[in-house]
Amino acid sequence: MHKYVIIGVQGCGKGTQANLLAERFNLTHISVGDIFRSNIQRHTKLAARIKRIMDAGHLVPDEIVDEVVRKRMDEHDWNYGFVLDGFPRNRAQTEFFLESYDIDAVIRILVPDEVVIQRVLARRLCGSCGIDYNLMHHRPAQPDRCDVCGGELVSRADDVEETICKRIADYHTHTEPVIDLFRRKELVFDVDGDRPIPDVQNEIRRRLALPLDAAEA
Ligand code: AMP
Repeated sequence: MHKYVIIGVQGCGKGTQANLLAERFNLTHISVGDIFRSNIQRHTKLAARIKRIMDAGHLVPDEIVDEVVRKRMDEHDWNYGFVLDGFPRNRAQTEFFLESYDIDAVIRILVPDEVVIQRVLARRLCGSCGIDYNLMHHRPAQPDRCDVCGGELVSRADDVEETICKRIADYHTHTEPVIDLFRRKELVFDVDGDRPIPDVQNEIRRRLALPLDAAEA
């Protein structure tokens, strides 16, 4: 069983890298941001509590996050392990999580703030099927239309410059320091995320001593 946490500022590519790892090694990808967005799309009771906070780029209160994570972990659909993406984001969430679970490794993806701002502003999401695009390096064939389902491409409500800067500041103040809580016992390493997606993935696998795909070995 592999249990990983992937940490990095918004737009560093942690969701993409977590997905690639999860698909290849049968791990469960747990993204708290995705769980929140799915609630907002379905207009659940939880959505009413978090939508305004998320749109403003603030962190959702710890008690809500902890409850969501506890419920998600209780599904126990992670026989081969999990990759946590976007959690924990501060000391209290880290302490809450480590009370019940352990972690094998923490992967920190490093990308300069000015690069992530450009990346996030270019991010688009299909309003129908949810596929991600990026106008810089994963362009749709037709601007504003999903290549797969033809749905309309939209920006996330929280992907505007002011909100991005707020999230970056929160990351440096609250999230980066949690690395030290993990460093006491788990493997913690940094990966340069300002490179093509496959190169970042291969470096992560090398550092985790996981097999590379045949063409890369
Ligand atoms: P993400 O998809 O990880 O960028 O998360 C999107 C938004 O969801 C964040 O800006 C927060 O408002 C909220 N969120 C996601 N994960 C957490 C967390 N661990 N703690 C607090 N808020 C979170």
